[in-house]
Amino acid sequence: MSGGDDVLLRASAAGETIRAMAAITTGVAEEARCRHGTYPTATAALGRTLTAGLLLGSTMKSEDGLSIELVGDGPLRRILVTTSGGGRVRGYVSRPATHLPSKNGKLDVAGAIGGGWLCVMRTQPWNKEPYRSVMKLVSGEIAADITHYLATSEQIPSATALGVFVNADGSVGAAGGFLVQILHGATADLAELVERNVAALPQVTSLIQSGAGPDDILAGVLAGLHVRRIFEEPVCFACSCSRERVLGALLLLGTEEIEDMIRKDGKASVRCEFCAEEYTVGDSELRMLIRDAAGFA
Ligand SMILES: [Zn+2]
Repeated sequence: MSGGDDVLLRASAAGETIRAMAAITTGVAEEARCRHGTYPTATAALGRTLTAGLLLGSTMKSEDGLSIELVGDGPLRRILVTTSGGGRVRGYVSRPATHLPSKNGKLDVAGAIGGGWLCVMRTQPWNKEPYRSVMKLVSGEIAADITHYLATSEQIPSATALGVFVNADGSVGAAGGFLVQILHGATADLAELVERNVAALPQVTSLIQSGAGPDDILAGVLAGLHVRRIFEEPVCFACSCSRERVLGALLLLGTEEIEDMIRKDGKASVRCEFCAEEYTVGDSELRMLIRDAAGFA
């Protein structure tokens, strides 16, 4: 469950007019599955969105934050993924026990999400208002929705592939993806070449299962071009929750609420939505919080 082999590579080609990222996220998707107990269709949906978060997140400045939210009328209801860069991503789905019959031999992620909305939010430390764009889902398979978002909201023609292969026992066999963007100044021939390359590639999970790393994936995406590696970094599922934050959140509930918890259960149990970590705050610690609250009042 360590996901130690997970890695993201960012590269460019054709004199910086093409930007491309590829990531192996098998460990990330498997850790998310273990933490949230997702069923195969939910595992694929969450794994794809986590990968999208890492790929988009790698284009941000180090202080920025990014969240990807999908809300649909299908059984899965909602997926939320956030990253603050550095190869760290976290996320959850509303209904982890979602599994649908496969469609054309593939996990039916679009069916699990249904019709709905994609919301991408970017936060910057110097900007109080986050940059938010909300758009109707065009496919529900996530990769096409991310491509649509990039084309309409950021005006960047892109191709996105996201894949999660789930083993017969429910564990993640392979996960990863790539994102290639045609930036200003690229010629139409160049865009066509990349389009042909992408169309000719096998499924990204097949590549990963046969041992391909991010370099191999980008070599396929950018075949015929000189690839310049920009950086490679390890990626992982990581949450920013902590015991201190949980205590802070309890403190905000106020003394009455905390006294109520002491009377009823003698403790407080808090579960982090993003990573499913359980925090138990005992009687004596809760009493200490009440004293702190009194001190602040
Ligand atoms: Zn957490």
